[in-house]
This record gives sequence, C-alpha cells and structure tokens, in this order.
Amino acid sequence: MLNETQLSNGSTQNEQTKPPQTVLVAEDDAVFRRVLERQLKNWGYEAIVVQDGTEAWEILQQPNSPELLILDWMMPGIDGLELCRRIREKQEDRYQYVLLLTGKDEKEHVIEGLNSGADDYLTKPFDIGELRARLRTGNRILALQRELIQAREALRFEATHDALTGLWSRGAALHLLGSEMQRGARANASTGILMIDLDHFKNVNDTYGHLTGDEVLKEAACRIGQAVRSYDFVGRYGGEEFLAILTNCTPADLRMVAERIRTAISDLPIRTKTADVKATVSIGGIVASKGAHDLEFLAAADSALYEAKRTGRNRVVIGKCEPLPVLDENFKCSSGIAHA
Ligand SMILES: [Mg+2]
Repeated sequence: MLNETQLSNGSTQNEQTKPPQTVLVAEDDAVFRRVLERQLKNWGYEAIVVQDGTEAWEILQQPNSPELLILDWMMPGIDGLELCRRIREKQEDRYQYVLLLTGKDEKEHVIEGLNSGADDYLTKPFDIGELRARLRTGNRILALQRELIQAREALRFEATHDALTGLWSRGAALHLLGSEMQRGARANASTGILMIDLDHFKNVNDTYGHLTGDEVLKEAACRIGQAVRSYDFVGRYGGEEFLAILTNCTPADLRMVAERIRTAISDLPIRTKTADVKATVSIGGIVASKGAHDLEFLAAADSALYEAKRTGRNRVVIGKCEPLPVLDENFKCSSGIAHA
C-alpha cells in the first residue's frame, strides 16, 4: 500500500509526509529527549519536544496540534496517562495517535495505559528500530482515520442534502426549522418561512421529459439560493417544492426575499439542453408568531401557498399563523402533494 522508497537522509516516503509529519514528544529525561529529537529529525519528522505534561497539554489545546504523540508515562505536572485521558475527552473531529513510553517496572500497568486511551506503548530503554516501526504504524493508523473521517463527512453531507439540487434535504430542513425557531424564541427574534412551488411543473416533465425537468429544478434551486440572504437556509421540500427558512426575519424582509425569489425565476427563462423553459413560482410565506409550533407554522405557509396558487400563480401570499385546533402526533403537512 505504501511505497517505502529509501530517501537520501535514510527516511522513507511514508515517514516523509507533506508537509512533514510533526511529532510531539513529552519526556522529562534529558537523555531520552535528545535521542528522540535527533532520531525523529533523521527520519524526516518535525519534532516538538517538551519536558513535562503541562507544556504538552498547552500545545495540544492549540488548533492543528500534532497528531502523532510520544508521551512519557512518568512526568512532572500532568503524567502521560492523564494526558491520554484528556486527549480522548476532547473528542475532536480528528484523531491523535499516542505512543506511550513506559519504564520497565511500569510495564505491568500497560493495560491501564491502553485503557486511558494510548494506542501503543514502548518500554524504555527502547530499540531505535522498534520506535521507528511503531511510528510508521501510527502514521498508517492516522492515514486510515483521516480517510474514515472524510468518508463519514461525505455520508453526512449525502444524508442531509438533496442529491439533485445540493440543497438541504426535507428532513434536514425541518430539523433546521425546529432549531431556528427555538433559537429565535430565546433571542426574541422572528423566524420566517417561504414555501416555494414551481407552477405547472408537471407540464415541463410531460413536454420536455424528466431530464429537462431535473435541469429546471437545479437551476430554480440555484436561483432561490442566490435570492435569499446569506444566513438563510433553503431545502428541497418535495418534488418541485422548496422551503426557505429566514432567520431574524420581519414581515417586510419576508416579502422582499419572496419577491426576489419570484422574479429570479420568472424574469429569465431557464436554459436547458433541449429548450428554454419559462418557469414561475407560487410562494406562501409566514412569519412565526411567538410560541408557534413549527407544524402550525408549516401549515400556515402551506395555506398561503395554496392561496397563491388559487389566485393565479406566479405570486406571493403572506399568511397568518393561526394555532391549529388539534395537533395530533400523526399530523403530516400535506404540502407537496396537492399543488400543481
Ligand atoms: Mg519520565
């Protein structure tokens, strides 16, 4: 997997990462410190060497602190075990690999060290070749961890975003709405939402086919994203329906953003590979009344959207948020089904 070509300074390519892999060494014994520093440099690592756990902990709290750590177990201040515990408690979005150095008489406590979060250990006095091999192992583990984290982030993005438009998915948008309304209630700020539905979208699919329909959806999503304010959220709520969540929003803001979206769609036909498609949207908007439930809020925006459809489409209707008479837990917003 890794090509270990010998380089001129005796280091190998997997030790020579770009930029050079930095190793943090915390060791209170001056002789070991010097040996470690010299060897690490010979092998192409950058070494940050400190003489106690307190100094090490200060470095570890900085952003982008080293990922590969050689920690002595017994040190003044914070010892290696306690450092391991603190590192694992940090639970950052990246991994730090800990190689614990132990004295011979501490070896019986190695399990304790590993339980505290160390990845590996080495007993002093250690063999230089063994140290080098264990650092390579650490590098391999770190590379795998980075790949895992990247894969997890990609999955997280896929799970929360709509694949076609790149907007927030319906579930993620509803989650954002809930948290935004809670945040707004705490900060005494109003939240606005806009339900945006492409008019007669079925005709686009029927006339030009679904691929063109997809192109229209993508371009509409892009224009909506550009029309809202930079701190608003836009999700794909259903087939051709979008939900914009406007933070700190007055009724005047809501209408202004809604009109901006409406004209962004209607002013210019959407150019696709097969045709220039004229599109319009109907928009229902609402500013949350204090203490409103997000389902009441969605229902009110949905009614406003229905009204915009009923009164001729390509228009904005701002509604009122009335409390729902009964909120049963099976309540589902009907939006996205009945509009055409
Ligand atoms: Mg020591």
